[in-house]
Amino acid sequence: MKRIAFFCIPAHGHTNPMLPVAAELVRRGDKVRFYSFHDFEEKIKATGAEYVSCDRFLPEVSRKEEERLKKVSSTEMSIQDLRITMAMDGYLGEEFAAFQPDVVYSDSVCFWGKLNAWKHNVPLVVSTSTFAFNQMSSQYIKNSPGELADMILGLPKISAELKKMEPYGYHVKSMLSLVQSDNRTASVVYTSRGFQPYAKTFSDSYNFVGPSVFSEVEPCKQKERPLVYISMGTVINERPDFYRRCMDALGELPVDVILSCGRALDQSTLGKIPDNVQVYPYVNQLEVLAKADAFITHCGMNSVSESLYMAAPMLLYPQTNEQCAVAQRVTEIGAGRLLADEKPETIRADIQELLKNASYAKAAKACSAEFRSCPGPAGAADFIESAPHQAGGEDPMKLLNKEVGKFQTAYWIVLMSLMVVTGLVAGWKYVWIIGVFAGGVSAFLGKKMRKRSYRKLFGD
Ligand code: UDP
Repeated sequence: MKRIAFFCIPAHGHTNPMLPVAAELVRRGDKVRFYSFHDFEEKIKATGAEYVSCDRFLPEVSRKEEERLKKVSSTEMSIQDLRITMAMDGYLGEEFAAFQPDVVYSDSVCFWGKLNAWKHNVPLVVSTSTFAFNQMSSQYIKNSPGELADMILGLPKISAELKKMEPYGYHVKSMLSLVQSDNRTASVVYTSRGFQPYAKTFSDSYNFVGPSVFSEVEPCKQKERPLVYISMGTVINERPDFYRRCMDALGELPVDVILSCGRALDQSTLGKIPDNVQVYPYVNQLEVLAKADAFITHCGMNSVSESLYMAAPMLLYPQTNEQCAVAQRVTEIGAGRLLADEKPETIRADIQELLKNASYAKAAKACSAEFRSCPGPAGAADFIESAPHQAGGEDPMKLLNKEVGKFQTAYWIVLMSLMVVTGLVAGWKYVWIIGVFAGGVSAFLGKKMRKRSYRKLFGD
């Protein structure tokens, strides 16, 4: 019997995949204590784990900070998480002493879980509810200029906050070291290696257990005419304008359409519903996807995983950076098309292509088979019970960095030579032009070189 402390941030998307793992460990006779928040109490208790409320440690957030949080300012979110860690410090010190966990299982962005495992020398396993992001796979996240400015301008604020953590015994080198996946930390990732971007840069410390989809239902696509399912998820789903365009696109086609428009939308704002369209505030998505031949989706990680699990190809309409990353990966495996614009003609043509060209369904089916062969919650439970894990073999990220380093050395040698020649021939006052030019292209070239080195080392 192991004593396992679970930690997660207050978010359904992060908490949900941990629940079946908790249930599996409880079933095996382990003692699971889950540190979480009121909204999740019921779900956690249903797994048989002991729920521990941490609501009182959520700090008061000023109006300005709340505004910034609503815009998903990564600076503000990180600062809030660091403050929660400090607020919980005394309490968690007592808890670790009393409960004496053998393992900590913490969400990848739950700082207080990870930091307390390190501080109290308890083996840590990280739970990753999206793709695992390292130097390579994080290239899939394209930040807007506003987000980049938020990150850069937020650096001094974050390092001031990290300094405040030191007297508590939390020594954090940088924010990146706290949030990015590394090849030494044991991690559970809820997808397959095949769907994870740049999977070969992740060592054996990563256990890709497959998506957190729990359904006995098998895909069954046999019916009189194709079924198209539309959903924009549960968070930003009040999009009557977009739903209207989808209905205009599909209303005249020989297909059936199920539209899940969200509980908040007043359905009268949708106008006349075509005969072949059924609108619901919420559906059993897995059951619909099992029959669907195409899914118009906002590309939330759960929706996409469920769609692939049920072998339904997708028309991808991502709304956030993370959803864009997921959408990019779907196009790379060939299981979907990116919607270029919201015009009904475009939607119609893309859906017709998805239904006509069998390669999309074939790719989705292949991914479904891979997902279904993953070890699932039982595999995650084995991995947690057998912690600590020693990272074996050569670190693939180190190999890659070594390869990229060769290019960087060559790049700087050429650059310095060019500067010296320019200085000698045209005069030293022109050397800065080369410096500025080199700065501009180095980021671009660096990315290209990383990709090239990846292909050279790992072959895809
Ligand atoms: N969902 C559902 N029925 C609906 C709409 C959504 O069951 O009518 C579920 C869906 O199965 C998925 C989740 O809501 O598990 C949406 O999660 P996702 O990560 O795709 O998007 P989010 O809602 O977080 O933007």
